[in-house]
Amino acid sequence: MRAVDIIIKKRDKLELTGDEIRYFVNGYTSGEITDYQAAAWAMAVLLNGMNDRETTDLTMAMAESGEILDLSDVTPMVVDKHSTGGVGDKTTLSVLPIVAACGLPCGKMSGRGLGFSGGTLDKLESIPGYRVNLSTAEFKDQLRRIGIVLTGQSADLAPADGKFYALRDVTGTVQSIPLIAASIMSKKIAGGANCIVLDVKVGHGAFMKNQDEARQLARAMRGIGELAGRKTLAVLSNMDQPLGFAVGNALELVEAIEILRGGGPADFREHVLRSVEEMLTISGAAPSNAAARQAALNVISNGSALEKLLQLVAAQGGDPDVIVHPERLPRASLIESVKAAQSGYISQINARVIGEAAVALGGGRARKSDQIDHAVGFIIPRKVGDKVEKGDVLFEVHANDPAKLAQARREGLSAFAFSPSPVDPLPLFFED
Ligand code: URA
Repeated sequence: MRAVDIIIKKRDKLELTGDEIRYFVNGYTSGEITDYQAAAWAMAVLLNGMNDRETTDLTMAMAESGEILDLSDVTPMVVDKHSTGGVGDKTTLSVLPIVAACGLPCGKMSGRGLGFSGGTLDKLESIPGYRVNLSTAEFKDQLRRIGIVLTGQSADLAPADGKFYALRDVTGTVQSIPLIAASIMSKKIAGGANCIVLDVKVGHGAFMKNQDEARQLARAMRGIGELAGRKTLAVLSNMDQPLGFAVGNALELVEAIEILRGGGPADFREHVLRSVEEMLTISGAAPSNAAARQAALNVISNGSALEKLLQLVAAQGGDPDVIVHPERLPRASLIESVKAAQSGYISQINARVIGEAAVALGGGRARKSDQIDHAVGFIIPRKVGDKVEKGDVLFEVHANDPAKLAQARREGLSAFAFSPSPVDPLPLFFED
């Protein structure tokens, strides 16, 4: 077999066999197939697509390019969740402790921020001492002992995805549904999940800009899950405006803790409860969504969900005292309330603009090597549809640099649009 023949076949819109796909993925992972050949192949896939069988073969070849975690000796049922990435999306930080407190062991490997979208690992690293580089043995031991793990992706899992993703990022080949689907699902399968709940974000602050694209991606990932023998469910959620009020690493952690204390913004709370419902029902831990919701509300009100977060933080070397006293988390030196210059109904809070402004404040990275400022970000206690009067507070900027604060104020204001007549609130979820 030759790499060039596989590239030509896809260029000519022909279907690749499983052997050809495995040959290509293994060759690229080992370095025998070059970056320029892989880039040409990825572009051919982007332009000509893949059918379900090819996409599943690609996913399995990428998953099998490294270790596949076997957690069956720890727990018979492994459930995982994955968000395709958004702004203010701290769902995992609340959902995992709730699910674990409901008695379903939950170990998850999360990622860092990507462009304008935040990453769970960066949020967790607001906690002094918290380790995100557990070995496989530590992962299993902790899951067995306390039923909850939240760490980074091990380099041994789906290494082909690591290589392909970096290449796609710089060759204009990210926006391909089969390539995104295979990238996400290969990591979930390598992580040992039997059941996978996918949160496919759609809107300004998401990879998928419209519902059609999001449905296609959801359908592709569900198809892979079925063919790979994993129970897979996808929900489509709105990412036109930020989720909850907080955008920024430590600020989002505080909001996730508020949920575990029974508070938090209504949209974020609903999003968390829906995610817990799907995880508990798909895994058979709850007989219905209503029963799952009740279980979630119980572990929030009796304090055991918050207790799980404390156990998690302590187990991974973090200081649990900052969870009890969130005011001890990194805090910005400059906090400014920005007011509305006009009265009206809010018709837009562009999540992408807010996400990019949070990165510019130092809350994300422009280059892989950049250090994150965990304290900075926005608190936006407003939603599309809210009525505001001139002079009402629209949002707070948390900054550590006056010039960056001024820029964030300008960019934050530019994310808003107003209407003189009433505007409907945005839906949280879309029908799949
Ligand atoms: N997230 C991933 O893990 N992979 C993609 O290709 C896109 C989003």
